[in-house]
Amino acid sequence: MLATNFVTDSRMGTDYGTDKRMLATDSVTDSRMGTDYGTDKRMNDFDTLIGLVSQHSPSGQERGAVEWLVKRMKSLGYDESFIDAAGNAVGVMGKGAKQVVLLGHIDTVPGEIPVVLTPNPSPHGRGELLYGRGSVDAKGPLACFVDAVARVGVVEGWQFVVIGAVEEERDSEGARFVATQYKPDFAIIGEPNHWDRIALGYKGSAPANVAVKRGQAHSASGEQTAAEAAVEVWLKVKAYADSFNADKQKVFDKLLLTLRGMDSDSSDFEQWARLKVGVRLPVDVSPSDWYLKLNEIVGDAKVEPIGFAVPAWGCEKNTPLVRAFLSGIRSQGGQPRFVYKTGTADLNIVAPVWKCPAVVYGPGDSALDHTPNEHILLEDYEKSVQAAQDALTRLVK
Ligand SMILES: [Zn+2]
Repeated sequence: MLATNFVTDSRMGTDYGTDKRMLATDSVTDSRMGTDYGTDKRMNDFDTLIGLVSQHSPSGQERGAVEWLVKRMKSLGYDESFIDAAGNAVGVMGKGAKQVVLLGHIDTVPGEIPVVLTPNPSPHGRGELLYGRGSVDAKGPLACFVDAVARVGVVEGWQFVVIGAVEEERDSEGARFVATQYKPDFAIIGEPNHWDRIALGYKGSAPANVAVKRGQAHSASGEQTAAEAAVEVWLKVKAYADSFNADKQKVFDKLLLTLRGMDSDSSDFEQWARLKVGVRLPVDVSPSDWYLKLNEIVGDAKVEPIGFAVPAWGCEKNTPLVRAFLSGIRSQGGQPRFVYKTGTADLNIVAPVWKCPAVVYGPGDSALDHTPNEHILLEDYEKSVQAAQDALTRLVK
């Protein structure tokens, strides 16, 4: 049974956050509202979104949300829904040989935000806003996929696989597993880019520690300290990036450097300093290209790659998938636009493996990602579901 615990406070609008733990199993109807969210007869347009956002799921604690979503997909008529070996929520619609994978992520950054539905407070604002961690990044996009596929239903010869992946905000463990499990004809990745835009590129990332060591010297010796050497190394790396970027017009084509941290210390015989260097890579610089170049620039300092490096990815523009989404957005009165992002996404993990046409789609303003003010406009969510439904229908016909 589709069930959403529903508690209303007339002063606040609707608070779905009051008892999140009961959400999947309980149903409370408020007669003042006249809405019974607890019956599976009535498909409420926002139950998937609100229910999913109400399941707080920072990376590493996704289980409750995953279980909820698996049940939700079952109740929406998916042929199969299950938790895979990586802990991802998976829903399958249809048994055809051709496959579309719709990959969203179910984890969020930490920081719980009360789940509240309020009228849009802005003077010319429309509709209602749903506040909650993940409402934008990226449960809005994931819920959109779940609802759009439910509305499209089974299409002869095709299979839709909707995945709510875990750990995207950390090392993308969920997507790394998914990359090995499917070989889709088309891939749609869920990230917020406003309902009327299609994202075609995400940058790569290749973080590293750069360490400098020196023997101890008397402070009056005039010899360069490890800390001084580290500062010089940073300036060299920065100068390289500046010259690389000099003739690049678009941010997507540039090397974006960040000095994420710096520390130093010494013992009786040795002193050392370490820089934590982050970089967002363009498509034509792979992580291994970057590490090689960094080694070359820093001389005798030691480069240690940290975390998971991912290459940048730019999607092919002239594909049936992109055309389907352009039409889908237009069908809802939108003027579609393409965007290229400076962050990374699960696109970077799966696209190089699958090598099929791909796009990134999802409602919500990504400027609100990770902020305490994270919220989504329900009207935009609904448009995104209809646009995605229209796009999928065109794609598989
Ligand atoms: Zn995201």
